[in-house]
Amino acid sequence: MSERYGLVHISTGDILRLAVQEGSALGRRVQSILDEGALVPDDLMIELIRERIDRPDCEKGYVLDGFPRTLGQAEALETIYEDLGEDVPRVLLFDVNSDVLAQRLTSRRGREARSDDAEAVQLERLRVYQRDTAPLVSYYEERGLLDRVDGCGNIEEVSARIARVVHS
Ligand code: AMP
Repeated sequence: MSERYGLVHISTGDILRLAVQEGSALGRRVQSILDEGALVPDDLMIELIRERIDRPDCEKGYVLDGFPRTLGQAEALETIYEDLGEDVPRVLLFDVNSDVLAQRLTSRRGREARSDDAEAVQLERLRVYQRDTAPLVSYYEERGLLDRVDGCGNIEEVSARIARVVHS
C-alpha cells in the first residue's frame, strides 16, 4: 500500500524492534514485553504515534500498521485526529482464518529471527489479540469506518482486494 499509494508505512512493531536493536531507552524498556508477546503500555504507544504522525513526511498520508491495538489506543487516536484537524481514517481488517495464520507464522519463524515468533509466544500473542484487539472490530464497525479484506491468498490477490476497497 505504501508503494502503490505513496504513503509512509508506520509499523509500530518495526519501530519497537529497531529500538530494541539499537539499545535505546525505549528499546530497553520494551524488550521483555516484546519477548513475552504482551502489549506495550498504551501511554507509551500513544506518545510514539502522536510524535510520529506529526512529522512532515506524513503530510501526504500514511498507513498505520499494528496500531491501534486496544480500545484505549483507538480512543486516543480519535483525539489525536481531532487535535490535528485531520479526516477520520479508514480502517482495513485483514481476515485470515486460523489455519492460514498458523502456516504464515510457522513459515516466518523459518525466515526471520523474531524472538516473539517462538511457538509459545505466538499463542500468547493470539490470546492477547482476542482479548485486547478483537473488540476494535465492532468499535470501528459501529462508526462505519471498517472495511474487511479477505487476507487469505498471495500478495497479488490480497493487493487487488485492497485496491478494490481503496477505490470504492
Ligand atoms: P507486530 O510487529 O505488529 O506484530 O508487533 C510486535 C510486538 O510489538 C507486539 O507483540 C507488541 O509487543 C508490540 N506492539 C506493536 N504494536 C503495538 C501496539 N500498538 N500496542 C502495544 N504493543 C505493540
